[in-house]
Amino acid sequence: MNGPTFDDRDGFIWFDGALRPWRDANIHILTHAMHYASAVFEGQRCYGGKVFALEQHSQRLIESARLLGFEIPWTREQIDAATNETVAANGLTDCYVRPIAWRGSEQMGVAAQLTKPHLAIACWEWGAYFGEEALRKGLRLNVAQWRRPAPYTAPTRSKAAGLYMICTLSKHAAADAGYDDALMLDWRGQVAEATGANIFFLKDGVLHTPTPDCFLNGITRRTVMGLARQRGVEIVERAIWPEELETFQQAFLTGSAAEVTPLAEIGPWRFEVGDLTRQLAADYAALVRGGNTL
Ligand code: PMP
Repeated sequence: MNGPTFDDRDGFIWFDGALRPWRDANIHILTHAMHYASAVFEGQRCYGGKVFALEQHSQRLIESARLLGFEIPWTREQIDAATNETVAANGLTDCYVRPIAWRGSEQMGVAAQLTKPHLAIACWEWGAYFGEEALRKGLRLNVAQWRRPAPYTAPTRSKAAGLYMICTLSKHAAADAGYDDALMLDWRGQVAEATGANIFFLKDGVLHTPTPDCFLNGITRRTVMGLARQRGVEIVERAIWPEELETFQQAFLTGSAAEVTPLAEIGPWRFEVGDLTRQLAADYAALVRGGNTL
């Protein structure tokens, strides 16, 4: 880990309605979220002073909390404004933004009806999620042992902290085996996504991507689908089985942190960092810096 730890930095964090000095943005150890993962979060990037797709991220945060049974006591507009205020207070124009909402410390045990919901927003400079080299050469993924849970097993449409437990385990196992990240299958054995990004494949000029029925239908995913359509590229959302991976020529990940990152390999399968992947990465970079959503 380079640089200061995340609790020991200069700057400001928006915390329950006001900016606090970074090091004072703390919670008590007996916080429900800490014990029972009753927390939801967002991750978005600010480009040239404008947070890309801010409204969509704030709205998803609100809905993620509702899926966990709690209501964030700020409106979408208030969360948008608080986000902009946080970025400005830190003097940043290009950064990653992390809003998080969680249940407080009024109650201990599984039940949480008496807990108060909280909201904090932090931001910091964060370059390419997988590093600059990955953007040129493509990432190497293994196939995770953990599978995305079925929608009747977990609130899979929520960007809930608890759902990342198997992502961290998969990411560590991938790193231990010398890979950059892991491809996660879903509970049926179909291709789902990476540990923090959606996945696309190219075959004979057509893009294929798994139907998001048990994982996040990412904001970047939908944006890149729009960009591909603008280029006249056909997109098929469907069930994709791992056996099919050998038939694809290109593959890439999409995510607010990952942006558009090409893949070079997944387990035994190889992909080229090809023209369409590069084109969509460039289109996405231009769109987010242009300050508009599609
Ligand atoms: N899946 C997972 C597990 C993620 O963490 C993310 C990043 N939020 C995504 C997909 C992509 O979502 P988005 O494009 O909205 O950032």
